Amino acid sequence: MDTSQVINIETLPDALEEINSDHFVNKPLLDKKIERLFSVTESEFGFYQTHKLPFPREHFLSRIQFLLRTSNIPISKQTICSYCKKSITYYENQIFQKHDILCRSCYLKYLEENG
Ligand SMILES: [Zn+2]
Repeated sequence: MDTSQVINIETLPDALEEINSDHFVNKPLLDKKIERLFSVTESEFGFYQTHKLPFPREHFLSRIQFLLRTSNIPISKQTICSYCKKSITYYENQIFQKHDILCRSCYLKYLEENG
């Protein structure tokens, strides 16, 4: 690959409306964190525009790894509600481990009171 055409992702404009598809779509973009190239296709760019989503700034594998790390694990565990002490089933999250775990009714009540 001709590395002179590689675009440093840090040079992308912040707003999607400012991104000129001629310069950034179907071009090799460098994710410096993992030193891998990726690109955004024309149809993918159209999807981001239609749904007002941000232009990706990381390789898709980095995005999937982040999504998996922040997702709850699929194995259920038992605990008690931090407020009413009722036994409940929950799914642990590897990133957000230190927090109160509430039953559905206590969670809804918490949302009503705290927004
Ligand atoms: Zn409760």
